[in-house]
Amino acid sequence: MTDIETALGDLVVANRILANENVVDAYGHVSVRRPDDPERFFLSCSRSPELVSREDIMEFGLDGEPSGGDDRTPYLERFIHAGVYERNPDAVAVVHSHAEEVLPYSITEEPLRPVIHSAGLMGARVPVWDIADRFGDTTLLVIDMEQGRDLAGALDEHRVVLMRGHGFTAAARSLSEVVRLSVMLPRNARILTTALRFGRVKELSEGEIARRLRMNPDGPEFWRAWEYWATRAGCAEMLEGHPNRGG
Ligand SMILES: [Zn+2]
Repeated sequence: MTDIETALGDLVVANRILANENVVDAYGHVSVRRPDDPERFFLSCSRSPELVSREDIMEFGLDGEPSGGDDRTPYLERFIHAGVYERNPDAVAVVHSHAEEVLPYSITEEPLRPVIHSAGLMGARVPVWDIADRFGDTTLLVIDMEQGRDLAGALDEHRVVLMRGHGFTAAARSLSEVVRLSVMLPRNARILTTALRFGRVKELSEGEIARRLRMNPDGPEFWRAWEYWATRAGCAEMLEGHPNRGG
C-alpha cells in the first residue's frame, strides 16, 4: 500500500468514525495533507461524512482551489483547511465540526480546558475566534481565503480553536490524532459543563498536558482506539493491510 493509498483510505475511515461518534452530522469535515506534496491536501467533495467513500475525495491546493480542473462541488468551508495548512507546516490533518457540546464555551467567558486525561491533547488553552471581529455581519461560515487565514491565525500553534456560535477547528500531527482529539473534545466539554454546576473544577496541569502531548500519536495504544472506532463505524475491512496494524 503506498503512502497516498494509506492516506486516502484513512481519510474515508476518519469521515465514518467522526460521523458515527457524533462529532459531525450532515455538516463538518476532515482533511489530510498529501504525504508527498505538502502544498496539497485531500478533502471530500460536498457530502456528509457518513456517506463519504474513496471516490468522493478531491485534492486541493493551499489556496483552497481544487486540483486539475475537478469540477465537483466542494465544501463551502474548505478554506478552513487551506488556511490552517498554509499557516502551520506541522499540521498534517484538520477537522472542522459543529459539535454542540463545545458551543457554550464559544459564546461565554468560560474557557474550554482539558479536565479528563484523554483530552490533554487539546492543549492548555483553546482560543475563541469571532468572525465578526474582522468581518462584521456574515453567515458565520468561513467562505474565502481571507477568512480561512484569519481563523488559522487565531488557531496559530494551538491544537483547537473555537468559532463563536459555530463550532471548532482542530489540527494535529496525523489523521488518527486529529480524530482522537475531535472525539474527546465534545466529551471533555460535556464533563466540564456538568462539573461546573458543582463549583470549582480542577483541570489538567501544564505538566500533565505536556506529558500527554509527548506520547507517540500513532503508538499501538492509539491504534487500538482507531480499530475500535472503525469497527463500530462499520468499516473494519478498510484496515486490512494497514501499515500501523499489528501493534
Ligand atoms: Zn462550519
